Amino acid sequence: MLDAHSLYRFFRAGDEETLALQGVSLRLERGELVALVGPSGSGKSTLMSCLAGIDEPDGGTVRLGGQRLSHRSEPVRAKMRAEKIGLLFQSANLFQHLTVRGNVLLAQRLARGPHQPPPVDDLLGSLGIGARSRAYPGELSGGETARAGLAVALANRPAVLLADEPTGELDDTTERQVLQLLSDLTANGVAVLVASHSPAVAAAAHRVITLTDGAVTR
Ligand code: ADP
Ligand code: MG
Repeated sequence: MLDAHSLYRFFRAGDEETLALQGVSLRLERGELVALVGPSGSGKSTLMSCLAGIDEPDGGTVRLGGQRLSHRSEPVRAKMRAEKIGLLFQSANLFQHLTVRGNVLLAQRLARGPHQPPPVDDLLGSLGIGARSRAYPGELSGGETARAGLAVALANRPAVLLADEPTGELDDTTERQVLQLLSDLTANGVAVLVASHSPAVAAAAHRVITLTDGAVTR
């Protein structure tokens, strides 16, 4: 589903050069839940951005459903991302002035994918926040915020979900619930990659990829 081959990414600030990714290859199959672990600064977020086509690798290739995503124009990457990828980050992807339902509708309007998007009420119901559909993000608990963020990420039925530390600010019980929702997605064939420090995420994953200093070490 998602295939990264030999990704390199450098950052230069003055005389200082950071090798954030040093030849990372990975493959994500349909229905897999994969944990991406590694210490802070090991390149997890940089890798996620390259896989999502938000950032461009300096070397290497990202393929999504057999099509090259890297080294394409921004509009092409944006379109592929909209059609195939859901993004979930710790700082939730919610607009504060829109309700939960408004946020999901906006995501559906902005990114028209190849499939009919799921009805908002069904999506929110399946994530257990149907009752909060008219609430604003500022009125949500941590767990509700995570579920609402997931609803936005899933607004267009993505084939791949990329989640960067999605449970970083959640208590253990809520984290377990969010992990259950992520693993439910895999039963429907979605490929899920979760960057996280949390042992609970690694334990729930089918497979764990470890990054150290920008390279896959396990
Ligand atoms: P992680 O998500 O594992 O904590 P990151 O991908 O955020 O790691 O960072 C990997 C390395 O790349 C770090 O050394 C970080 O300082 C550096 N880095 C990331 N983004 C940038 C950037 N935009 N400019 C300069 N350095 C960056
Ligand atoms: Mg990070």
